[in-house]
Amino acid sequence: MSTQGKIDLSFDKNHIWHPYTSMKDPLPVYPVVSANGVKLKLEDGRELIDGMSSWWCAVHGYNHPVLNEAVEKQLQNMSHVMFGGITHQPAVDLAKLLVEVTPKSLEKVFYCDSGSVAVEVAMKMAIQYRFATNKIKKNKFLTIRSGYHGDTFNAMSVCDPVTGMHEIFTGVLPINYFVEAPSCKFNENWDEEAFAPMDKMIREHHEELTAVILEPIVQGAGGMRFYHPEYLKKLRLICDEFDILLILDEIATGFGRTGKMFACEYANIEPDIMTVGKAITGGYMSFAATLTNLKVSEGISSGAPGNFMHGPTFMGNPMACAVGIASISLLLSNNWQTKVNRIESVLEQELKAARSFNNVAEVRILGAIGVIEMKEPVDMASMQKKFVENGIWVRPFGKNVYLMPPFIIGDEDLTFLCKQLISIVKPSLFCDE
Ligand SMILES: *Cc1c(COP(=O)(O)O)cnc(C)c1O
Repeated sequence: MSTQGKIDLSFDKNHIWHPYTSMKDPLPVYPVVSANGVKLKLEDGRELIDGMSSWWCAVHGYNHPVLNEAVEKQLQNMSHVMFGGITHQPAVDLAKLLVEVTPKSLEKVFYCDSGSVAVEVAMKMAIQYRFATNKIKKNKFLTIRSGYHGDTFNAMSVCDPVTGMHEIFTGVLPINYFVEAPSCKFNENWDEEAFAPMDKMIREHHEELTAVILEPIVQGAGGMRFYHPEYLKKLRLICDEFDILLILDEIATGFGRTGKMFACEYANIEPDIMTVGKAITGGYMSFAATLTNLKVSEGISSGAPGNFMHGPTFMGNPMACAVGIASISLLLSNNWQTKVNRIESVLEQELKAARSFNNVAEVRILGAIGVIEMKEPVDMASMQKKFVENGIWVRPFGKNVYLMPPFIIGDEDLTFLCKQLISIVKPSLFCDE
């Protein structure tokens, strides 16, 4: 029970698991009582400028009047109703929007309750497609290293083998194929050699491969790497050549984050299956979707068993759909591209100083994403403490200290966020590096 409005941190510590933490001596958590615009308010009254958009989600910031209204209005109608045998306006309207904003050939929408589930659904589609078209030997997936696709089992099986915890789950995880992450960076000149490992693997194993799955252009939680669009173009061609489906996981990159509505637009290609999540509801509710084209949907539906075998309890949740419609509409009507471009130029201007720090390996910026890759892994807890003391909310992992602020952030707040970040990343004169 809460003690007079104070958040009971000791109960939290003793009873509640937080992401990727131990139940014994967990990393500290900060009590947040409200969030507004680009600011998170701590229980002690301090306000932090948010550099994380709550893990890619809150593109319009927090407590947004338009999103609030969408949720409140939907709440008056119905908060949830089962999707088996029932449909409703929010589900139809959101699907119309998704079909409109995603690549043209993606016409069929499957609603999920989280990103990991959307990835499971995408992978199940790729398996069921082979089952229905009598190619059951094509049942493996190929991906690139440094990827992240979620924490459920099949999603984990295509996450980076090192950061994706494959060691712990050896023998339990499905075995899939990996090639090295694309070596040609986003803004380098294209190097034909960068595609060689993928090319070789596909030529050797295409008979077993149902699909290649990867994050387009930006690899998020698996390493914050940005790679060259030409890689995707080549991949699309070779997948077609060898009858392999292409699954693009746009859960982190989708809805404007990279400077395009979807990152695959940089390569001008369309996937057979695409997953979206995170920013789909502007960060209001857990929700995701898997979209596919006619080829896959017809394939699955024409063969046996004909039905696609998935159907989560909260599928098509009306509240999530309603806020999803509001969030995407807001994005479309609000010049998101200008905002993202402006964020990109401020990030470039403010973070470039770190390029000369002797503890920094690389600084890279794309759209509303700024990454400072350190030479050594950072101590998350102590660095985060310093960020909080300096009025910003940033959560580094591994060697990466990165920003992906809400698109609504103003220049002044963004500059403050960057300057505080730089002041903490900067090697101290007294440290012996
Ligand atoms: C976050 C993420 C997921 C998993 O989404 P959850 O909603 O956390 O299950 C999958 N793929 C990518 C690229 C992600 O960034």
